[in-house]
Amino acid sequence: MTKDKQIFLSKIPSVDELLQNPITKRWEENYPHILILDAIRSILERSRKAILRDNDLKEDSVTLSQDAILSEVETELINLSKLNLHSLINATGIIIHTNLGRSLLSDAAIKNIQDVAESYTNLEFDVGEGRRGKRHSHVEEVLCRLTGGEAATVVNNNAAAVMLILNTLALGKEVIVSRGELIEIGGSFRIPDVMERSGAMLREVGTTNKTHLKDYRDAINSDTAALLKVHTSNYRILGFAEEVSLEDLVELGREKGIPVIQDLGSGCLVDLRRYGIDGESTVQESLRLGVDIVTFSGDKLLGGPQGGIIIGKKSYLDKIRENPLARAVRIDKMTLAGLEVTLREYFDEKKAIKNIPTLRMLCQTLEEIEERARRIVEGLRETINEKRLDIQIKDGISLSGGGALPLGNLPTKVIAIIPKEIKVTEFEKGLRENNPPIIVRIKDEEILLDPRTILEKDIEIIIEAVRRIVKR
Ligand SMILES: *Cc1c(COP(=O)(O)O)cnc(C)c1O
Repeated sequence: MTKDKQIFLSKIPSVDELLQNPITKRWEENYPHILILDAIRSILERSRKAILRDNDLKEDSVTLSQDAILSEVETELINLSKLNLHSLINATGIIIHTNLGRSLLSDAAIKNIQDVAESYTNLEFDVGEGRRGKRHSHVEEVLCRLTGGEAATVVNNNAAAVMLILNTLALGKEVIVSRGELIEIGGSFRIPDVMERSGAMLREVGTTNKTHLKDYRDAINSDTAALLKVHTSNYRILGFAEEVSLEDLVELGREKGIPVIQDLGSGCLVDLRRYGIDGESTVQESLRLGVDIVTFSGDKLLGGPQGGIIIGKKSYLDKIRENPLARAVRIDKMTLAGLEVTLREYFDEKKAIKNIPTLRMLCQTLEEIEERARRIVEGLRETINEKRLDIQIKDGISLSGGGALPLGNLPTKVIAIIPKEIKVTEFEKGLRENNPPIIVRIKDEEILLDPRTILEKDIEIIIEAVRRIVKR
């Protein structure tokens, strides 16, 4: 090490000196000591590294005064104090975006979660009888009334639901699944892996593109515990493909006395065909066709909080609830509070579509979307010089996400922006670094904002952010 460097290093103030500084003392009133200490250490370490790295050191290339260092410490402190999980604006048009937290909750659901969080509740207490009650009872009746199922329960998420069902009904036994349905969905949920961990043995039948009823029939033996049908969620095989209908599978199960389980993935309670959206059958249809157990997510098309909903024959549900694993994957009270209110919205389908954000976004008309696009564009044009931005409204496609309707494209109107003075990627980064961050799609060198997932309260924030980015 050169002499210079040693001199510079020796000039760095110590942690203790900085802690004694009146500025730091004032921070102690607003910030936790542990964060102040970590912020100081990290800035000092940065200065030390800068000195060691730089071979052409000048007095002004390193900040060594207490004031200069503390100014950097403050920036770091503000950063460390920010919440890690925070809200953001989803302008991607992907409604059930798993990375962005899937479904937004209805106002009523949010209110109920707050009520339940700040009070004691009858979570596991039967108030009428004055004795212990059951956690799942709060949604079981509602679920059965809505779907026509015999019994129902809820667990932490759908992956847990599938795992729990297989572990309960097929431990050490075989479960028959079509090769065309051995899927992997985002976040590494793979049917074969889940099955292995559940203790059930996978018996694959058919081929990737075609599976016949005979394939299932031939695979059934004295070790067969269930027939499993899985929603292929995020993919479809087109062309020369064939799968066994639910009716036929149910009939085979009946004939052989083997339960038929269906992992519906998204699990929709509303017939979306009535709103011009094709491609997703309902939970009610599966149960009506005689499937013994269906399972689906709470936060996909249902539009509620994260959860795994299991509905089906009472004899199976009783066994599932008694499995010790059920305790390990049980649902918490806040989720239950949000879920019950979300489910009750479905008693009146119109209200469900109006109040549950996921359904509302899905069923929005093109006119409504275009109207919102116009307002955003007008807001942008009012304050931003045309020379800085090229803005247009174009036809586009929204996605439901969450593995639902993989090909059921939703026509939309997107706002396409081409910045003229900065790069598209730089513009996108500016949006992402906004507070709150704005997440968009880039396609063909254009920034696309899809009003379908943009909330009313987001509009002004987006306009303001764009204005700030182009004016820099
Ligand atoms: C999404 C999905 C799951 C997993 O559901 P989570 O609620 O995310 O655990 C399982 N199976 C299918 C078919 C899915 O689409």
